[in-house]
Amino acid sequence: MDGCVFCKIINKELPATVYYEDDKLIAIKDINPAAPVHILIIPKEHIINVKDIDESNEQILVDIHRVANKLAKQLEIDEKGYRLITNCGKQAGQTVFHLHYHLLGGTDMGDKLL
Ligand code: 5GP
Ligand code: ZN
Repeated sequence: MDGCVFCKIINKELPATVYYEDDKLIAIKDINPAAPVHILIIPKEHIINVKDIDESNEQILVDIHRVANKLAKQLEIDEKGYRLITNCGKQAGQTVFHLHYHLLGGTDMGDKLL
């Protein structure tokens, strides 16, 4: 998708620190980390957000969770706990309109959602 920063990272037109990559997904370090571990898990297909998930592309959500589990183990945040979130739309705080999940961990995030 023209002008999409994540598509540019996927197409290697922009650099990123890559933690995981396969034919369907890429996982990169967030450029402005909010926690010691802050990874973005991004489908290679330009899906705008979870509102655009339907029967045709829902498998990617399972794949994202599988990669999140794998990375959480690898980075040793699986036992202490981590947060896996996605923002859907402007009011939720979505700033990049290409579906992505934030994997956050390595610090006490408390019980507040906001
Ligand atoms: P959102 O607010 O849409 O849920 O999250 C977008 C995230 O993408 C933010 O945490 C922001 O720091 C990150 N981000 C924005 N531009 C770039 C970039 O060029 N490279 C990387 N690695 N992360 C980015
Ligand atoms: Zn995109």
